[in-house]
Amino acid sequence: MSKILEIEDVTVSFDGFKALNHLTFSVETGELRVIIGPNGAGKTTFLDVITGKVKPTEGKVRFQGRDLRSLPEHKRARLGIGRKFQTPRVYLNLTPRENLELAGNRTKDVFPTLFRPTPSDEKRSVKSLLETIDLTIKADIPAALLSHGEKQRLEIGMLVAQSPDLLLVDEPVAGLTDEETEKVGDLLLALAESHTIVVIEHDMEFVRQIANKVTVLHQGSVLCEGSMDEVQSDPRVIEVYLGTPEEDHDPTPTSVHEPVI
Ligand code: ADP
Ligand code: MG
Repeated sequence: MSKILEIEDVTVSFDGFKALNHLTFSVETGELRVIIGPNGAGKTTFLDVITGKVKPTEGKVRFQGRDLRSLPEHKRARLGIGRKFQTPRVYLNLTPRENLELAGNRTKDVFPTLFRPTPSDEKRSVKSLLETIDLTIKADIPAALLSHGEKQRLEIGMLVAQSPDLLLVDEPVAGLTDEETEKVGDLLLALAESHTIVVIEHDMEFVRQIANKVTVLHQGSVLCEGSMDEVQSDPRVIEVYLGTPEEDHDPTPTSVHEPVI
């Protein structure tokens, strides 16, 4: 396997405050990686340095072996880095089908005319995308009538319609019901069969549903990495999430098994 994304010793300073602090991280092509970490850990800044919204003070970001330093945001998107923001950004007056068609028309920068799909190819991919995001029966109603979870799935579909090589997904289940959360999880798992995905998430049930490998961020650096079970039983992770027990406290070991994140 090759590394699709490599972040090497990246520091981001905001007026001296290090939102990212010598962060080193990489993702293999085809991986589904989940990033967790307490508020202020640097998760959003981490996505911002990948997409180019924020420039690192130090260090390197490489995508498919290419140093991204000189590339502005829109060029990184055209290279194949797609980002889904936390709040859905779908066109509410258009239908899911129209939203997907529109998203799919934004082609990448590589020989745009040569590789632009023919209209029938495009239709087929919109049809299969609608199936993937389970919105076929709502394909032709205004997106304004969709539930929050359906809008999230539509926006994930719109991201996929742009055929990015790397999907960055920021807190896709915030504010969703349990049922909707599970559907988004199933969708990401299905997409992970053919895409490289990095998901940032707080909801631990959800992380357990989808995670293979988890990276924990803390104070702008990687605290630890591993399976969900490994990171949840790591004493450093427990300390970061629960705090160190006070001295006159009687810490019962059973009470610190499941960090509440
Ligand atoms: P997370 O997404 O993990 O909650 P962020 O990446 O948003 O963390 O923020 C990390 C830290 O950097 C926080 O302490 C935040 O206040 C600070 N920070 C983020 N963006 C800026 C900015 N533009 N200016 C100053 N401080 C910032
Ligand atoms: Mg954030």
